[in-house]
Formats: sequence, C-alpha cells, structure tokens
Amino acid sequence: MAFPQITPPPLDEVKARFELFDYIDGERLAPEIEMDGWVSNPNTGERIARQMATSPAKIEKALSVAQRLHQSGAWANTPPEKRADILDAAANALMGLVPAIAAVESYNTGIVFSTSSFVNNIVWLAFKAAAGVLRSGYAVSKVPGPHGDVEILRKPLGVAVCIVPWNSPAALAAHKVANALAAGCPVILKPTEWAPYSCLLLADGLEAAGLPKGLFQIVNGGAEVGQKLVSDKRVRAVSFTGGLNGGQAVAAACAADFKSLQLELGGNNAMVVLPDADIEKVAEGIVAGMTTLNGQWCRALGRLVVHESIQEQVLNAAIEKFKQVQAGDALSLESQLGPLANEAHKGRIESAIRALEQKGGKRHAATATPTDGYYLPPTIITGVAPDETLEEIFGPVATLHTFKTDEEAVALANQTPYGLGGYVYGSNEEHALKVARQMNTGGVKINGVSLLELNVDAPRPAWGLSGFGEEGTLETFDVFCGKSVVGVAGK
Ligand code: NAD
Repeated sequence: MAFPQITPPPLDEVKARFELFDYIDGERLAPEIEMDGWVSNPNTGERIARQMATSPAKIEKALSVAQRLHQSGAWANTPPEKRADILDAAANALMGLVPAIAAVESYNTGIVFSTSSFVNNIVWLAFKAAAGVLRSGYAVSKVPGPHGDVEILRKPLGVAVCIVPWNSPAALAAHKVANALAAGCPVILKPTEWAPYSCLLLADGLEAAGLPKGLFQIVNGGAEVGQKLVSDKRVRAVSFTGGLNGGQAVAAACAADFKSLQLELGGNNAMVVLPDADIEKVAEGIVAGMTTLNGQWCRALGRLVVHESIQEQVLNAAIEKFKQVQAGDALSLESQLGPLANEAHKGRIESAIRALEQKGGKRHAATATPTDGYYLPPTIITGVAPDETLEEIFGPVATLHTFKTDEEAVALANQTPYGLGGYVYGSNEEHALKVARQMNTGGVKINGVSLLELNVDAPRPAWGLSGFGEEGTLETFDVFCGKSVVGVAGK
C-alpha cells in the first residue's frame, strides 16, 4: 500500500503534544498518581516527564460511566449504518492527525519517522475497516432454517478494555478501539506508561466525529492499573497486546469470570534460508526483519535458520548491509534505525546478548550508531546451541543456526514455544512454499519481509505462547461480540 510521503511537524509542535491526560466521560483531566519511572526521549536519553497513573476513584468513574452507557443500550441499539458513519468520520479526522501521531511516537519511542508515519496510517484505516464490517451486514448474518431464515446476531458483550504496549501504540490501540466501538461496546483504553501520548490523539479524532461522550475513555498507568481494569466484573471483553508475563496475568484475571479475551504477545520468528536463495535478497530481508521498529516488532527476525552450504555467504552479505544502515535521530527523514525505546529495555537486551556470549555466542554487528541515546546496532549471534535460543529478545538481535535437510530446517523453525511470524527464502517458490506450510506459526512470508500483512483481510493468528485467539478485520470485531442464534422452530 502506498501513502503520501509526509514530513514531521516542527519540534515545538511535537513537544506541545506531551501533555498527559485521563479522558473520562468526555473530560480531559490530569492523572494524579506519580509512578517511579520516567517517560524519556530515547534519541537523547533526556527525561520528558514522570510516568503517571489514574487514581482509583477516576478508574471507578470510567468503569461506571462505561457500564451505565452499556446498560442504557443507546450505542448498542444505534443502527449499524449510523455507527459506521461515526467511525468513518473518525477515520477522516484521524487521517489528518497521522503526522502528529507519528512524530510523537518517533520522539518518544525512537521509531524512525519513515516507519511511524507509514505504520500510523493504520490508525485511520482501522476505523474505516471497522465501519466496513458494519456496512457489510456482518453483525446480522442469516442461514436457512426449518421455517425461514435463522439469524446469527453479533451483539456487544459490554464494557471493553484495550491495553497496548509501546512499540506502535496508536496503531495497535486504534485497531482494538475501532472494533470495540463498531461492535457496540463502550471502551476504556489503557496506553503504556512508557509512551502514552500518541494514543491521546484518538480522543481528538473520535470527538471530532461526534462519538457520544463516555463511549471512549482513557486511563493511564502500568500493570497495576491494567490488572484493576481486567479484573473488574463489569468488563466483559479484553484485548491485550504486550509481553508474555503481562499476557499470562491478564488471562488469569479474565479466566475468573470467562471474559472474552484476545492476546497478542511476543514471537521468536524464524527465517529459513534454503540453499538456492538469492543471497542479496536474503540480506535485505535480514536487515528489514531486524531493523523494522528498531527490531522491537512482534514479527521481528529472531532466528536465522540457514542451509549450512551458504552460512558464510549469508552472514557476510548481512554484515555488508548492516554497514549501510543509517542510524540516527528518529525524527530525521534520513534515519533508518532509531534507538531502543527506553534505557531499561536496552539494558535487558544487552544482558540477553551477554548471556548468549556466555553460552559460546559470537556477535556480528557493523552499523555505526550515535553515542547518545539508547542505540544498539543490529546484531547476529553465531555459535549458540539452538535449544539455548528459544526466548524472544524483542530487539535487533538474531541468532544463526544451520541445517542440512528440510526436516531439520522445519524442526528448528518450530522449536520455540512461540508461533507468530516466519519467513522462507528460496528461488524455487514451490519448495519454499512446501517448507512454509510445515511451519507452525500464524503466518509465513516467502522471499520478503513486510510490516503489513500480505492481505489486510487475512487473519493474523498466534500459536503457542504468541497469543490467544487471532487478530483480523472480522476476528477482532468478534472478540467484542456475543453471538445469539434466533429463528422460528415451529409454526
Ligand atoms: P508489557 O507486557 O510490559 O506491557 C504492555 C501493556 O500491558 C502496557 O500497557 C502495560 O502497562 C500493561 N501491562 C503489563 N503488565 C500487565 C498486567 N499484569 N495486567 C494488565 N496490564 C499489564 O509489554 P511491553 O514491554 O510494553 O511490549 C513488548 C511486548 O509486546 C513484546 O513481548 C512484544 O512481542 C509484544 N507485542 C506483540 C504484538 C503482537 O501483535 N503480537 C505487537 C506489539 C508488541
């Protein structure tokens, strides 16, 4: 998909967006509770503001406002066409906010502007897609019955909670929020404490579209606030994107009263390189897989699984490409690699690299990085046994392993407890497809790495520890719906 090239707004306009608020029943209010951590600019390491959390009283207010709205039935009973009109209007308003959203994320998360301005088109596209689901009639489908049609109604479950991480917060939030609203649910969004600001702009878009107040609310804070929300009995549907620990805690809370749950968690994604692969293309794929979102990408390359006959060629070609990667300030249009999201995260990745070195690993990196800020060059580690490299690192780091046969390649690709993304490179497409079909993962791309899916309407499933349920245009809408089958049984 091609979008117009945009440039970041002036820095003082970007900085003016760093004013945190809770958004409760249509009011913007400052959060009261100081947390221990700081929101920072990872490009320089400078502190922006202390992390803040919403008070328990305001969380309670948000929940009761949402519950009251759900019980009133006002939004649930708004005809799907009218709900779609509001979502389309929100999409139009949010389209104009993409440069601001993208710049805020580049400044606060280090994602380079060329990527953040591209990926944040998802913000408005998500609202268009959700409106499209409503206009397609999906909310009320029909199958034949003994006495006329049987209706399959998709009805809003109730209050929805959406929780997002820091690697692409606004786009992830928009996909969840748009579908919850389309389904007819009042929704409470909790952005991440590390990068809450871009999500605040969703309030501007939805307000401009005329969404009735209270249907979309934002509360701030970290794991504690997230747990409070997902443990509340009034909440009936939860969509969470984040790490494994958070996902497990959310799942445990939702199990208590069987909330509808969608979890999008991590991955340790393999790239299988077959002996006939085009080495130049493989090297480009490795760079894209390791540098997109600065390697902090759920479908980032984690394990390079290379045929032993071309191991050296692949490694050398990747290192040559690493030398050409331009690392720098994320707001600069020249930068291809920005810093990691925060100091603590950089520390975690560096200690993961050191742990691999202690297990015999040798690091290979060649990108020049600025000395200020939380930069880390893309790094391939060789020489570590495959059963020591099963965990997600969530940064620009991949381990390299070799194979002799297709069976070995598939076994290495399927060895981790995750199953989100995967890649196969090979000149013989049939052969590559045959290997790809045996990989137990939500999706496999052949001879290419792209941030967006091959088809936006295809599901985005997650296997194993990568998640629970699937994402997608219809799949996410369904998370917020209860189905009810209604028809005439006798005359
Ligand atoms: P994280 O789990 O620490 O935090 C994510 C969000 O969950 C934050 O808003 C956080 O405050 C909240 N949270 C944390 N613990 C919680 C708990 N116990 N209960 C309720 N809420 C809680 O993750 P992160 O470090 O911000 O993000 C990185 C992770 O996100 C990586 O593992 C990455 O793979 C994953 N991710 C997955 C996808 C996907 O689509 N599968 C996309 C992006 C990121």
